Amino acid sequence: MPQVDADREEEEVFCDISVAVDNKIFPAMEPVTGRSELDLSLLVDSGEAAVSDFEDQTDELMHLFGEDYLREELKRSRVIFVVGGPGSGKGTQCEKLIQKYGFTHVSPGDLLQSELAVFSERGKLIRDLLGHGDLVPVDILLEILKDTMTSCLGTTKGFLLDGFPCEIKQAEEFECKMRTPNIVLHLDCSAEIMTKRLLSRSKANQRFDGSPETIKRRLERYYQAAEPVLTYYETKALLCKINAERSTEEVFLQVCTSVDSIF
Ligand code: ADP
Repeated sequence: MPQVDADREEEEVFCDISVAVDNKIFPAMEPVTGRSELDLSLLVDSGEAAVSDFEDQTDELMHLFGEDYLREELKRSRVIFVVGGPGSGKGTQCEKLIQKYGFTHVSPGDLLQSELAVFSERGKLIRDLLGHGDLVPVDILLEILKDTMTSCLGTTKGFLLDGFPCEIKQAEEFECKMRTPNIVLHLDCSAEIMTKRLLSRSKANQRFDGSPETIKRRLERYYQAAEPVLTYYETKALLCKINAERSTEEVFLQVCTSVDSIF
């Protein structure tokens, strides 16, 4: 069993651990010399390993080093939070950002919906909670986000968290368990314009969540929970306020200027 002297700087210890793990996982390859060699994305890109191999390796590293490995890998990636009220254009802008930058879209709402259909302990728990009208606890949501993000680590240009965090507790927990975002894009839009957009979206898509009363309640809930989140990131100088009342293309130009600043 390889021995690692843990009585040193965190980076040095991690470097030795990386070498030990790498040599265990890739015994037939040249011995590695440092942590940069552990960039599994290079293997995938060069076609030396299939994506499923990469996922197995990521799983093994997660199993061995858990949250420390995730945090180290996330540090090298980019994490962008996209916040704004319902109808502010988050989904629309995320779609365009994915096309332009190759980010991975992480939508907590969609992920929870998918979990509902899964026959697992977690799926059952979420079905029970939502069935009783309870909210899904932050730690379960974070676990789902962590699983999704882990499965793309090393192969993505970064993560776009659409509509996250929607309350301060989520922001704090994410930072504690994963990392601080590079930036927080705030799509700023008046309640009047968001209402107009949601009404026409629900007409076009025949969605049942689009009655004026439902929209009003959703907006009230949004404003109540969002205020502390926005203040929190403004204080940390991470908030990029975007005027989201303009056309989709004009909004996208502002969004890209902010995103380009983190490369
Ligand atoms: P969110 O994800 O924030 O709820 P969406 O991206 O789904 O918002 O947008 C809500 C509706 O508004 C959609 O029908 C979308 O086509 C429209 N929309 C989005 N951005 C704009 C914009 N800048 N100008 C006009 N309509 C927009």
